[in-house]
Amino acid sequence: MKNNIRNFSIIAHIDHGKSTLSDRMLEITATVENRKMKEQVLDSMELERERGITIKMTPVRMSFTPLSIGEGKEVRSEFILNLIDTPGHIDFSYEVSRSLQAVEGAVLLVDATQGVQAQTMTVLQMARDAQLVIIPVLNKIDSPLANISESKEELVKLLGCDPDDILMVSGKTGEGVENLMNEIIKRVPAPHSVLREEVTLAKKETTSKSQVETNKNIETISDRLNRSCRAMIFDFEYSNHQGVILYVRVLDGNIHKGDDLVFLQSKERFIIREVGYLRPGKVESDSIEEGEIGYIVTGIKEPGLARVGDTVTRFNHELPAFPGYSEPTPLVFASVYPEYQEYFDDLRSALGKLRLSDSSLTYEEEQSGALGRGFRCGFLGMLHLEIVTERLRREFGLTLIVTTPSITYEVTFKGGNIEKVYTPIHFPEHGDLISAREPWILVNIITTHQYLSPIMELLHKHEATVLEMEDWTMDRLRLILEMPLRELMRNFFDEVKSASSGYASVSYEPGDMRPAHVTRLDIYVAEERIAAFSRVIPEYRAAEESEDAVEKLYNILPKEMFKVKIQAYVKGRILASRSITPMKKDVTGHLYGGDITRKMKLREKQKEGKKRMLAEGKVHISHDTFLQMMKSS
Ligand code: GDP
Ligand code: MG
Repeated sequence: MKNNIRNFSIIAHIDHGKSTLSDRMLEITATVENRKMKEQVLDSMELERERGITIKMTPVRMSFTPLSIGEGKEVRSEFILNLIDTPGHIDFSYEVSRSLQAVEGAVLLVDATQGVQAQTMTVLQMARDAQLVIIPVLNKIDSPLANISESKEELVKLLGCDPDDILMVSGKTGEGVENLMNEIIKRVPAPHSVLREEVTLAKKETTSKSQVETNKNIETISDRLNRSCRAMIFDFEYSNHQGVILYVRVLDGNIHKGDDLVFLQSKERFIIREVGYLRPGKVESDSIEEGEIGYIVTGIKEPGLARVGDTVTRFNHELPAFPGYSEPTPLVFASVYPEYQEYFDDLRSALGKLRLSDSSLTYEEEQSGALGRGFRCGFLGMLHLEIVTERLRREFGLTLIVTTPSITYEVTFKGGNIEKVYTPIHFPEHGDLISAREPWILVNIITTHQYLSPIMELLHKHEATVLEMEDWTMDRLRLILEMPLRELMRNFFDEVKSASSGYASVSYEPGDMRPAHVTRLDIYVAEERIAAFSRVIPEYRAAEESEDAVEKLYNILPKEMFKVKIQAYVKGRILASRSITPMKKDVTGHLYGGDITRKMKLREKQKEGKKRMLAEGKVHISHDTFLQMMKSS
């Protein structure tokens, strides 16, 4: 393996300048032509550019010749730097964790105007778990708002490092960036083949007789190593004419176009159509080499065969699987229906394709009386939900109805069976429920003392328990607390932001399941239950939630020719109710003069018509009403 390769990810809290720092590195190494350079060039998705956030990690390969390396010696040699820019929002942490498996080093970026934030801690923990070399970097030192000494102190406290280990850069002006690249070359080790090392080690050690078997294994592996290869899939994308394109880190051996590979998990075999490097666009090459990051075009068009975390290796010369990643756990569920049923198949295929570029999305088919056929989808958080549905709309031109997001409950039914329930309509009726448990989360908040009291108030309102309060620096502190996930979804992030004028930051991780005092709220319109409006709510908020739901619907539903009752049922009781008065059609308006009998006759007819409609009793709830109801909740 070549000694001149360095693989690293840039990790940080959202907006601390990862993508901008990547821009500068791309410029210094002339990876992207000047005329093609734009701000945050690696954020290539339309949504990313529009919102100014990174959603997907982006790997890019750069060539860099440092001026001098080592003591006094002027050695000029070219290095290959494989950089992975990562998203900063908590919902996309799975992207970060996967990128970290493909590299040896992490540049931990902290915005000097903000200091260490909640997500800084989360990504740092991930980098530590992945046993990476961590390079602490203070960014935005050009800003008049930068508070360098305090931020430095925070980083020292966080990492336990020497203050001199911390590098200073400005992604905006480029100051310190070339020095950072030199340091990456010095501090991050070149990639190495784990298998080759194991074989060498084992060969040295094998002396005892019990190791005959092991010896054989070693021989096979070392034999295979010479004619095989192995790569780990950390991401993929889908192209209509090339099928699934894998983003891989090559672990052992070189991988060539035309190679016969197999996925170790799905056992699917394929012949490589093309390989190459990401610069950041795809640049074809004859092979991708050991230790490098690149892409493999598989030609596979079926979804589900390629999996993130799986290993590909040469068919008939298989090397052992690389320990993969844990699957992400969806936290938030919502149903997605096509607005018009004839687009159901299009929605299915769109979800399949989207999943190929977003392995944290899960979905399964479901049926709802009012909405027809659709999918119950699992997401990593509310932003993830928003991004996925927005992509379905934009990239696939679908119009959708998305139900109110909910979480998973673990329910013990009357018969004693325990089930995971992630659709409110499957939550048992009051009489069938013995007990329920719900997911909790562990939350990390960093704030200044100034906002502590409004934040504490919020925490109380959201049923949180503070576990630890730690003075972080002179005027900032860190809170560690636990709370029900359902409360996080009640606008918790936004409330913390506004309670602290945007100064507090929040991150969280899934915790355990705990007893929940929740019940189902059903909405009836004209005596008919509208399943899509059912919700699971805490018992103590039943009255309030019932009122709100009925009021909302009352304001949205158009008037009918007859009286329509809207009711909220909880535990078999009506907790809120309103009636929409019928629309009066003035059938007599065009009659003038004293023809009373004709007027009477017309009124009679009108009454009959109303009676007939009442007997038929159906209120048509338009898609528009559904959309509005879902939106406003
Ligand atoms: P990311 O979310 O970590 O990728 O952050 P971005 O690179 O998208 O940057 C977030 C914001 O900070 C943008 O408005 C950038 O223009 C700004 N920014 C990034 N780096 C610097 C810097 O070094 N100095 C200053 N003053 N602003 C910066
Ligand atoms: Mg970014």
